[in-house]
Amino acid sequence: MANTLESHQHTLRKPVSFGGIGLHSGDLVNMTISPAPENNGIRFFRRGQAGKHFVQAAMDNVIDTRLATTISDTHKNIVVSTTEHLMAALMGFGIDNADIELDGNEVPIMDGSAGPFIQRLMQTGRKKQKANRTVLRITKEISYSSGESSIRIRPFNGFKIDGEIVFDDEIIRTQRYAINLTGNRFAKEIAQARTFGYVEEVETLWEKGLALGVNLSNAIAIHWDKKSVLNEEGLRFSDEFIRHKVLDLVGDLALLGCPILGHITACCAGHTQHLAFMQTIAKATDCWELVEMNPNGKSSPCQRNGKTTTTTSNLLMPFFQTALSQPAPVPAC
Ligand SMILES: [Zn+2]
Repeated sequence: MANTLESHQHTLRKPVSFGGIGLHSGDLVNMTISPAPENNGIRFFRRGQAGKHFVQAAMDNVIDTRLATTISDTHKNIVVSTTEHLMAALMGFGIDNADIELDGNEVPIMDGSAGPFIQRLMQTGRKKQKANRTVLRITKEISYSSGESSIRIRPFNGFKIDGEIVFDDEIIRTQRYAINLTGNRFAKEIAQARTFGYVEEVETLWEKGLALGVNLSNAIAIHWDKKSVLNEEGLRFSDEFIRHKVLDLVGDLALLGCPILGHITACCAGHTQHLAFMQTIAKATDCWELVEMNPNGKSSPCQRNGKTTTTTSNLLMPFFQTALSQPAPVPAC
């Protein structure tokens, strides 16, 4: 199972396929995740166009954060929506490199959680690769806030999240969840938590032609009375809502392109705030460093002054490249 402190990159043992409807369109989407070489990162292709256009799973490629996270390449040849649950499963299982083919514009919503993804990924298994992992290690606190939302990250030798949400109803109210993402805790505690929404909000979206794929088999619907859920099977966890928010955060942060060593505290945040937080991190170049993990559990900083280590060159996002090319850190936090 995944561990941020693992020294080596991993890919899948063999391809694995999924089929399901898309959240936005309601159309059937087929998806195949295939093993990929070291330093490839996660890339999305349109089925039948492998080797042609692709979009790298990266924060710089995010074009929309309403309802779900959507990424696209520069020329909009490929648009991939609702990346977050799949990206969370890949990160939770410790997959650094994979190529993903889709015959639609959305990752299938499955049951609204990352459960079906992580289950199949675990059955498929991981393959250890030669290259060491590059990790973003937080060295000083970085914080972001906007209105009621806030996210901050502090130095920590692992990956820990404290999440909180506050809703004005009788069923969610205030929920908090803290997790140190080690071993199989992501799969056991977070992956099964489903997305959720108020019935009246879903009805409004339907009227606008949005969220056409949402139904009770892929989302928790909170009743008009705001005291119960419409789903006959009820909740999977009494605090399923905050667990899902933590899942979304893990999936969006995966768009940084490498694991993080840090302790995150997030309050009332969604996809838009997650992206803004990543952009805040990107600018705070004196508050983090890129390190290469070694088999002995220790790490060594990647070189600066324009010398990018060979093992990390393809995985690095443009903001990492910029930071590495700078002779000295720029004060930003
Ligand atoms: Zn979600």
